[in-house]
Amino acid sequence: MSDRRAELAANLAHVEERISAACAAAGRERDEVTLIVVTKTYPASDVRLLAGLGVRHVAENRDQEAAPKAAECSDLPLEWHFVGQLQTNKVRSVAGYAHMVQSVDRLKLVDALAGAAARAGRELGCLIQVALDAESGETGSRGGAAPNAVAQLADAVAAAEGLRLEGVMTVAPLSGPYAGRQLAAFERLMEIASCMRAEHPAANMVSAGMSNDLEEAVLAGATHVRVGTAVLGVRPRLR
Ligand SMILES: *Cc1c(COP(=O)(O)O)cnc(C)c1O
Repeated sequence: MSDRRAELAANLAHVEERISAACAAAGRERDEVTLIVVTKTYPASDVRLLAGLGVRHVAENRDQEAAPKAAECSDLPLEWHFVGQLQTNKVRSVAGYAHMVQSVDRLKLVDALAGAAARAGRELGCLIQVALDAESGETGSRGGAAPNAVAQLADAVAAAEGLRLEGVMTVAPLSGPYAGRQLAAFERLMEIASCMRAEHPAANMVSAGMSNDLEEAVLAGATHVRVGTAVLGVRPRLR
């Protein structure tokens, strides 16, 4: 085993233990939570090693980086999640490789994604990204829609051909009433998710929790956690 493969295997095993322990503590089955490994800033060779270690879901946040990486790894049985702030001029590229866009946060983006999915002849899963620091109606500083804008966005995705509404995503906010209160933030996300399911029963995916707060997310009820640093190491620079 190469050093890097051994390192990734050990890190994955540790993250797996954390997820299992969190599920046990929450009285949930382990298979209720899916691990998505966030591979941003790390090379395609790492993605390949991860796939060999059994990872099936990877996430990226910048199209410029993700597009060539996904192309290099197109032979691998992976689902690609796009989790970054997405400009409409990148949508056509993203629709070429992403299975899921987790960062849908405005109507203009819904229209662009629908057009791109149709052109590519693909169906894209979509999560509405919720900005819990934007209760007032503005977009959050890290992307995302204000909670009171989620229902309209969900309806738009559900009505769009080529898009499939899957649920909600959030990043624990650094500011506002939920700063430093990850569990409360994720519980608020769960409420928003239940409201969405009342209208769209199939949209049952809740993506929350990263390296530092995956336990809180699992406890609150997340179905997907997005883990980068704890698997791949500290990124060379912040993005
Ligand atoms: C980078 C990133 C993650 C992973 O964060 P870590 O702290 O490295 O685990 C999760 N979600 C999004 C949206 C990200 O951009």
